[in-house]
Amino acid sequence: MIRVSNIEKFATHDGPGIRTTVFLKGCPLHCPWCANPETWKMEPTLLHDERKCVQCKTCMYMCAQEAISFPFQWDIDKCIYCKKCEDACLQDAISFVGKDIEIDEVIKEVLKDKDYFDQSNGGVTISGGEPFMQFDAFLELVKQCKENGLHVAVETTGNYSLDKLEQALPYIDLFLMDLKHLDAKKLKDVTGANLDLILNNFRYLAKYCPNKVIVRMPVIPRFNDDICEEVIKFCAVLKLAEVNLLPFHTMGKNKWNQMQKKFKYDQDSMMDRDILNPYMDIGKKWGVKVKIGG
Ligand code: SF4
Ligand code: SF4
Repeated sequence: MIRVSNIEKFATHDGPGIRTTVFLKGCPLHCPWCANPETWKMEPTLLHDERKCVQCKTCMYMCAQEAISFPFQWDIDKCIYCKKCEDACLQDAISFVGKDIEIDEVIKEVLKDKDYFDQSNGGVTISGGEPFMQFDAFLELVKQCKENGLHVAVETTGNYSLDKLEQALPYIDLFLMDLKHLDAKKLKDVTGANLDLILNNFRYLAKYCPNKVIVRMPVIPRFNDDICEEVIKFCAVLKLAEVNLLPFHTMGKNKWNQMQKKFKYDQDSMMDRDILNPYMDIGKKWGVKVKIGG
């Protein structure tokens, strides 16, 4: 059994070719720009869509735990996940993200599109959250993916111990691994990530299988938009061939609203990807392919 937040078909930005992306629940980080904050907690997460809600308060009356109050607020500590609120809402304004699915069932679902993968050199991408959070189930999932002849990519923070990476490595063809900052304190303060763990994993992959790695850097205003060149140099030193600079976007904002959380970048607009173009030339200078976007 593995806890899944979503399965997205025909994904074209999560690795090569046409892919099915399996988003898993759970993440040890809390990046304030996250596009999938509903994946952070292992428990199911309630999303409330204000645009659909007619304020009838039926959900609140149905909740024996008093976990819902108005203006709409969900108290995760009181919730017992009976989902009576979701069932009672005639407007479909409440949904829970996070479902336990048998690994066989996930594989069956993914294999439905194998013809498309084969024709496009695509495959399956395991994303999150952080897939390594559900380590045993994740390991079983990637093993079964390989047994079924799938190209396996993983979107990952790299924020876990090396022994886990070593165990999973034989079953993973491509690591799309984030490098969000090179300053340990800034990274820790803003995202909760441990730079030592991440760099350790990068060094290991660079030593044993550099071709399996694409470095991904979400470029975030006032956080790391001034260190793109440093990240390119880091890749050059480790002989990692490709870095993707992911321009800041606000596409996750609606999910933050649906979780009744404030999106820190409310006042920021989407980054114009053209401003990152000069880094492609800088990459050439350092022998690193720089791609703008995923
Ligand atoms: S039951 Fe649905 S429509 Fe009514 S208040 Fe709750 S979320 Fe809104
Ligand atoms: S799932 Fe059950 S306990 Fe949780 S908010 Fe809904 S009705 Fe209340």
